[in-house]
Amino acid sequence: MARYTGPVCRLCRREGAKLYLKGDRCYTGKCAIDKRAYAPGQHGQGRKKVSEYGIQLREKQKAKRIYGILEKQFRTYFEKADRQQGITGENLLRLLERRLDNVVFRLGYGSSRTEARQLVRHGHFTVNGRKVNIPSYLVKVGEVIGIAEGSQDSPKIKELVERAANKTIPGWLDLDANANTAKIVAVPSREDIDVPIQEHLIVELYSR
Ligand code: SF4
Repeated sequence: MARYTGPVCRLCRREGAKLYLKGDRCYTGKCAIDKRAYAPGQHGQGRKKVSEYGIQLREKQKAKRIYGILEKQFRTYFEKADRQQGITGENLLRLLERRLDNVVFRLGYGSSRTEARQLVRHGHFTVNGRKVNIPSYLVKVGEVIGIAEGSQDSPKIKELVERAANKTIPGWLDLDANANTAKIVAVPSREDIDVPIQEHLIVELYSR
């Protein structure tokens, strides 16, 4: 699946918000938003008035960028969320949150979703004991995420496990630190999803 490979700090500057796309660097004084809190490009510091459509569009772009998804796939998630019962915006965030790369990030194994996605791609994780290297795999309640047998002795993975020990994980994941496994114990609720997104604006945009 295609993904954005350009400069990521530019994306935060475009959205005017920290999207935490670069892992540890985002928490240092090197963060581009802290240094240049205006949109990139020639007119970045110019026109400020934004239309209603513009506000909705920016919210959708922000969500795509946080989860590292391009338009076509994002639209597919939206259509799926729209077919589900309940509030479409919340359904959408729940689907994004259940992606395997996001779960690995939430468990603290990657400092950013990009790093987590790469770890998944490289086959370091299992679902119910079977290796899964598809970042968009949607985890389900009852499934258990683990570290692949061949990866457990890797110094890199050991370092990530140590790092994950200090991370607070959301309540819908139940981590067994001794076994280095995590069970999906619930579907994430809106309160569990701490992304700065007003999902109703995305629904409004796609409903135009
Ligand atoms: Fe965004 Fe992180 Fe870059 Fe700051 S350092 S602009 S939060 S990606």
